[in-house]
Amino acid sequence: MRFAEVINQDAVKKHLREMISENRLSHALFFLARDGAGGLPLARAFAQYIVCEKSNPAAAKSAGPSLFGDEPESATPEDSCGVCPACIKASQLVHPDIHYTFPVIPNKPNTPPVSADFITPFRTWAVENPYSNSYEWLQYIAAENKQGNITAKECEVILHNMSLKSFESTYKIQIIWMPEALGKEGNKLLKVIEEPPPNTVFILVAENDELVLPTILSRVQLIKIPALTTDDITSALISRESVPEETARKIAGMSDGSYLEALQILQHQGDDWDALLKEWMNSIVRTGPVAQLKIIDEIARIGREKQKQLLRYFIQILQHALHISILGSQRVADKESENVHEFAEKLQRFLNTQQLEAIVHELDKSSYYIERNAHAKVTFHALTIKLYHIISDKSLILVK
Ligand SMILES: [Zn+2]
Repeated sequence: MRFAEVINQDAVKKHLREMISENRLSHALFFLARDGAGGLPLARAFAQYIVCEKSNPAAAKSAGPSLFGDEPESATPEDSCGVCPACIKASQLVHPDIHYTFPVIPNKPNTPPVSADFITPFRTWAVENPYSNSYEWLQYIAAENKQGNITAKECEVILHNMSLKSFESTYKIQIIWMPEALGKEGNKLLKVIEEPPPNTVFILVAENDELVLPTILSRVQLIKIPALTTDDITSALISRESVPEETARKIAGMSDGSYLEALQILQHQGDDWDALLKEWMNSIVRTGPVAQLKIIDEIARIGREKQKQLLRYFIQILQHALHISILGSQRVADKESENVHEFAEKLQRFLNTQQLEAIVHELDKSSYYIERNAHAKVTFHALTIKLYHIISDKSLILVK
């Protein structure tokens, strides 16, 4: 993967290039990014940049000077070349000097799993889905509700790999994606992260530094990767997914700085949430507990991703209803699709601003729980009861 294939993050790319051109590459980098902002793509692009024979001639094993101390021979190029043998191997995740560690699940009884057991699906998945997250990865290997781990045995593999001579490049790179999954096993890596063998670079790519051992954090150089902007996501949707500009901008506005979210919204864009949402609302304000249980069952069956989309769609309608109540229906009519506008107008007529805001708040909370694998039925049941209480003040108006 080249830097050019990573959506924006130009400041981070520049910073990484300068580490090389100014001979101050740290031996252990910690990329911190929300999912869908480009943490893993940047790590892959940077690793390729380091081993590329053109962008970094010192990387070729026959070459003498070291990345870590000597003067570079010429001006540093902007990107890896993408065509030399090292780049081709790096882009397919088969370069023998770029090692990947990532969360995995048990695959044989009584044998702790290691990343190598899953490297073939990981390569395919990462190439096909550069912007993704560990939940999607674990779904890809059919983990279902199993927790992904980086095991003590995997830490031993890392120590072993780092003790070997490099094969083709002067450099050895160890990418640890989701060090959150290391738990206390991470202590086994402290020494090698602090004093790695010569020409070794660790790149840890995390989403949440609070779940990483402080002993690791104190030994790495933190590189914060910001969420993407609405403009970044809009232009990526247009250029990569051929989405029309207006749609791209709307999706980007809902995706919270994550290209992964944007892709998921795009994928479910054609889904018709209106019928399900209306049925759910009716069960709350009109038809009662039996109908509620039926609809909760139905929602539980559609799966986590669609549940998130349903909640997101509902929030979108409520926010539009809030805009209507502040600015008036006419002034915001063209900001959303006809469906959303019509639904929002209806809600806005029988719910006041506080109620609308309270519902958004509850939906946000449930979305957060669903995101973290909460039990769908329990979550939607609790949510339904809360919505009933928020709405019930004025529910009689709807019944008419
Ligand atoms: Zn190259």
